[in-house]
Amino acid sequence: MIGRFKGKEKISEPLIIQRTQHSLSRARISDNALKVLDRLKEAGYASLLVGGCVRDLLLGREPKDFDVVTDARPEEIKKVFHSARLIGRRFRLAHVRFGRDIIEVATFRAAPAPEDASERHDNNIFGTQEEDARRRDFTVNALYYDVDENTVIDYVGGAKDLERGVLRIIGDPAARYREDPVRMLRAIRFAANLGFNIDPQTADPIREYGPQLLQVPPARMFEEVLKLFQGGYAVQTYELLRTHGLFRFLFPLTEDSLANEEHGFPRTLVPHALANTDVRVAEDKPVTPAFLFAALLWEPVRLRAATRTAQGMRPLEAFERAAEEVLRDELKHVMLPRRFSVPMREIWSMQLRLDRRAGHQPFRLLEHKRFRAAYDFLLLRVQAGEAEAELGEWWTRFQEAPEAERRAMVATAAGKAGSGRRRRRRRRSGGQRVSPP
Ligand code: ATP
Ligand code: MG
Repeated sequence: MIGRFKGKEKISEPLIIQRTQHSLSRARISDNALKVLDRLKEAGYASLLVGGCVRDLLLGREPKDFDVVTDARPEEIKKVFHSARLIGRRFRLAHVRFGRDIIEVATFRAAPAPEDASERHDNNIFGTQEEDARRRDFTVNALYYDVDENTVIDYVGGAKDLERGVLRIIGDPAARYREDPVRMLRAIRFAANLGFNIDPQTADPIREYGPQLLQVPPARMFEEVLKLFQGGYAVQTYELLRTHGLFRFLFPLTEDSLANEEHGFPRTLVPHALANTDVRVAEDKPVTPAFLFAALLWEPVRLRAATRTAQGMRPLEAFERAAEEVLRDELKHVMLPRRFSVPMREIWSMQLRLDRRAGHQPFRLLEHKRFRAAYDFLLLRVQAGEAEAELGEWWTRFQEAPEAERRAMVATAAGKAGSGRRRRRRRRSGGQRVSPP
């Protein structure tokens, strides 16, 4: 099934890869996706797998989900699957639900006409299968799999690029980035996740068009940031983002703080945090944007707080002000929802409190619902060489110790110069003369 063509369209022959030439088979596709494909076919429509699932299966990876495309219009899809829900603006696509599993079914779509190019790429203009291939972002994301024929269908040279490990945008790179600047971030993400090289012609315009990311709504940027940093390849993604000059458009204050490397202080907290995130994702442990953003924005908060303290402001106030300002600035670029920004700020605030080990404070902190995250964050700071290892060890022991030992620990800590009110007062009076760390 190669699709139908409008009379005016140029008809180019796709490359059809036969069953002996590829590694795909029915056996590797989920039962629910097969059900959807089969029922659409039975009803007389074209039905194919497309996008990330075909790409991942050909690479021998487990696909995240299975996306189906068809020449059936959304209303027709709904007639085949009564339970399907049409979602998106102007009924873009259908969700067919099997318990908790959802198979996304989309109608073949064409790229918007050039005059609409400023609009989002998800306009609802139906098209042929070839048009559907050409409006996609990268060649390796535009491969179709026909289950019945057991063939892979390639209009854009994706199979060859997949074999060679090349990420190549479809069409004129500059035009495609102008149409949707998020494609630059997607290029970085796929290159990092797949371990592919970005084709030079795809990579080169990224420097010039990077600033267009500033036009992308911050809510969409938030979704992209999560995909970039919670997809299991955050370390490579971060490096590539910086190499291609895009990180500054996501986290400008963090980028500034990295450039501002005074006192040779190692700026390694972000890479450490991302490495930890990758490990957690690999182990299927939960990750939260609150912790991720706390790490990404910590350095700017710390530097601003230090400047204000140096100007004579009390540390606690300096810190809260810095946190507020950094968050406010960041929200102009990436819209971190309140349900994450509130716990993020708690993780930050608790860093100051973890420093005070006298009296009832440590016992109260232990009960705090954000204690675990704040403690993990402290360990991260220790790992990055920004907090004392001794402080991290103290809290590790304090959590495990029996009651009597805890009391003893608190008493000893109170006796030390490094805790309690005395230290804060001393810092404050010394603050005036000291320059930021
Ligand atoms: P992942 O495994 O991360 O989900 P994916 O390739 O499935 O990767 P999605 O974001 O789920 O990526 O998008 C599904 C498909 O839709 C892509 O493979 C691509 O063909 C197309 N697509 C998505 N976003 C864009 C875009 N901004 N411009 C053009 N095509 C896009
Ligand atoms: Mg996908």
